[in-house]
Formats: sequence, structure tokens, C-alpha cells
Amino acid sequence: MLTQRPRGMHDILPQEASLWHEIEEAARRICARYGFSEVRTPILEHTELFQRGVGENTDIVEKEMYTFNDRGGRSMTLRPEGTAGAVRAYVEHKFYGGPQPVKWFYLGPMFRYERPQAGRQRQFHQFGVEVFGVADPAVDAEVIALGLDFVEDIGLKGLRLELNSVGCSQCRPVYRERLLAYYRPLREQLCEDCQDRLERNPLRLLDCKRETCKALAQRAPRIGEALCDECRAHDEGLHRHLDAAGIAYEINPRLVRGLDYYTRTAFEVVEEGIGAQGTVLGGGRYNGLVEELGGPSVPGIGFAAGLERLILALEQRRGEGASEAGVDVFGIALGDEASVELTGWLRRLRALGCRAERGFEGKSLKAQLKAADRLGARWALILGEEERRRGVVIVKDLTGGEQRELPALELESWWKETEHGTGR
Ligand SMILES: [Zn+2]
Ligand SMILES: [Zn+2]
Repeated sequence: MLTQRPRGMHDILPQEASLWHEIEEAARRICARYGFSEVRTPILEHTELFQRGVGENTDIVEKEMYTFNDRGGRSMTLRPEGTAGAVRAYVEHKFYGGPQPVKWFYLGPMFRYERPQAGRQRQFHQFGVEVFGVADPAVDAEVIALGLDFVEDIGLKGLRLELNSVGCSQCRPVYRERLLAYYRPLREQLCEDCQDRLERNPLRLLDCKRETCKALAQRAPRIGEALCDECRAHDEGLHRHLDAAGIAYEINPRLVRGLDYYTRTAFEVVEEGIGAQGTVLGGGRYNGLVEELGGPSVPGIGFAAGLERLILALEQRRGEGASEAGVDVFGIALGDEASVELTGWLRRLRALGCRAERGFEGKSLKAQLKAADRLGARWALILGEEERRRGVVIVKDLTGGEQRELPALELESWWKETEHGTGR
């Protein structure tokens, strides 16, 4: 146990970190273009927040949360998703009193007790955005465009946007009744899970992955036919905005998302070619959620994307062996006095932005040159006892092999010229 990480929890090792940085930087870059600011909420919240915000009848709340009592006896939960915490922060800090919309993004770990599989971990990471305070379908279109820009920026290809409206508190109950009327006589043909959730959450039956349930869902009544006038107008408005932005979409009447709080727009970006698990980003509008969580009646919309899945896609596309951080200068000291002096020189070079490494433990020149080579260093600085006494240092170009002697006092100006010369 001591040397084994918990199941479904992952170490992101240094050789993978550059892919993570790339994805996180893409998220920040695209969010800046759309005027979204970062919010960082705690990974731990009161359990009730997720029971209310995610919904009691969801798999997440029923089976997947990491919930425990803290030392004060309060029930706490590791966040299974990012929206509830963002809404809580929006309400707690009274952002609804300021100018709207409020446009936020978040990046960070989430926790769900699920069966681990490729691209799905118990500690996983999400990038998500939330917009509060504006019900205009133009906002839905911006959020969708941002999400698409993000996954395209990372380099994913073959993406398809699926879209649906899940109605509102006016028209969804009507649709729910129609669904129940359709499914009740078919109860015996449903899978166990679907039989179980039929009365509580019949919309969920539409996105069951079992073949028999899928076939039944094909013939189920469609929500499009049940939408109220406002929901229909919102939906048509969104289509016009997407058309104007040149964003192609497919209506998927079985796209319902798993969570209770979605209203109207629901969407997913699907990557073709990775099968049934192909959703890379999903989201929707949640006009009832802020009020549900104790705030005023304020509309909202957002999406979340699982970063593990994007990392998988990036790895598949590029193969292993992402680039290391890179080293400009590798310092080689031969002898104790030289080693001490090198410590001072490297610190001064690093202060100038030079990426400097060094050898340790008095290894031989040959061993240290090998270490420099392994790190892909551009230059070696060699300081032996004799050079130290003469106040010089040997600068060796590790790409061409050429080397020269330099007065040690000129090292910093040498680096400035070199850095300038290489355009770094
Ligand atoms: Zn409606
Ligand atoms: Zn089913």
C-alpha cells in the first residue's frame, strides 16, 4: 500500500506535464479572447451543495461522490464537478448585484468514485466555463464557440457538435408525462438501470448505452415536439447565431445530459472515431440552478471538458516522448573549489533567464559531458582547478564541438550576447 497510489488516482509525471501545460495554456488563451476570467473554488464543499446542485437522482450523487464527515462532524464532499461550486461562489460573493453577464472559467481536479478505464480516472481534471446573468441565445452561441475553439486549438479533428433543447420547468413536465406513457408498457424490455430510474428520471432513459434501450429510445417521443413557445424561440435563436458563426451542428433529440438542472440548450462536442466514449466536451443551460442553490433567479450556461480524454487524444496524435524543458548551459566543475565557484556563476546566469544545470558529486569530465548530452544542453561551461586559478572558464558548444576560453568575469555578458544572438 505504501508504494501504491490509490486506484483511479494518477501521478502526472514530469514527462507528461508538458502536454498538460499545453492544454491548460490553450484553455487560458481562448478564454482571454472571449473575456472569461478564472475562478478557483475549493475542491471540498458541503455535501448538500452537490445534492442540490447536481441532483439527488443522478449517478454522481447516488453512487460516485467521495463524502466523509470532517472532524467537526460536517458532511463534506470532494467536488465531483465544477458548476455547483462556481454557482455557490457567484451567490456567496453576490456577483448577481454587479454588471452581467459574469463570465468565468475553471481548471482543476474533480473526484468521482467510478470504475477506472482509459481516459476515466477517479481523480480527473476538467476545464469548464460558466456564464451567469444573461438568457440571450447569443450567450449560448458564444459558449459553444469557445468550447469548439478550445478543442480545435488543441488539434482535435473530426469533431461534431450535437445540440438539443431539454425544455424548461413549463414544458418538460408535459414531456416527462409523454415519456412515461411511452415507456411504462415497455418496462420489462428495459435494462435494470433504466427500470430503476424510469419513474424518477425518465429523460435519462434516452441516453442509455444498452442496445435494447437505444432501440426503444429511437422510437420515443421527441422533446422538440413538446417545447413551449419560449423554449422554441430560444432554440431557433441559437441556431441563427450558430449559422452566422459558421458552426455546423446536428440536432440529437436523445441528448439530455445526466444532470437535473439543465434547461433549454444541451450540447456535446463528439470526436468521431473513439466510439461510444467520444464526448470530449459537454454542457448546457441551467436557468434554475442559481435559485435552487439559494441565489436569486439568474440564468446560467456552461460546459466542462475532461482533460484526461484530451491528453489521450494528444498522445495518440503525437506519439510518446513530448519535449523536455530544455537546458541552455550545463556547468561542469572539476574539483571542490571549482564546484563552489560554479554555484555562484550558475546562480548569476539563472538570474538572467539562462536555463542552467550542472553536474554533481565530482564526477569525471566524460561522465558530466554525457549528462549534459542527455539533457540536450546547448553549451557546457567547464571549470577545472587550473582554469579557476587563472580566472577563466571553458565554453564548449555542444552542437558543433567548438570550444574557447573566456574570462570568468565575462560570463554574464557572454550569456547576454548569446541569448540575444539566438533570439531567445
Ligand atoms: Zn419551455
Ligand atoms: Zn437502459
